[in-house]
Amino acid sequence: MSFTHWHGDMEAQYIYTAGIAGERFFRELKDNGKLVGTRCPKCDITYVPPRMYCEKCFAELDEWKDVPLEGEVVAHTEVHVDIEDNKLAEPFVIGFVRIDGTQGGLVHYIKAPEVRNGMKVKAVLKDDRVGSILDIEHFAP
Ligand SMILES: [Zn+2]
Repeated sequence: MSFTHWHGDMEAQYIYTAGIAGERFFRELKDNGKLVGTRCPKCDITYVPPRMYCEKCFAELDEWKDVPLEGEVVAHTEVHVDIEDNKLAEPFVIGFVRIDGTQGGLVHYIKAPEVRNGMKVKAVLKDDRVGSILDIEHFAP
């Protein structure tokens, strides 16, 4: 998996905002500083971001589970230019982080001296949270 293009400032957050599952995910993040997913008891799979239906057996999912703030970088890319192709003063890294014990993943900033796929990272949360994917400031080792 690779990112070939990135538009602007975390536009991918819209992916996570839709639906009831997304609302609960962001409420837990905002109010309790927690990440949660939905679990399929039959397949024993926990999805983060939460899904309303199991991808494997299509069962409707209503079991919520707290998941850790830790995960693993599955893919990443270094961003050097903005959307108009202007060179950035400071490049940054966007990664796809799979939360431990879950399926799926979150697209987010990774802050580390050197980012590698497979590295363990943890979500660094903002103190002042509003209920958005950017309540996670970034992931760091
Ligand atoms: Zn299932």
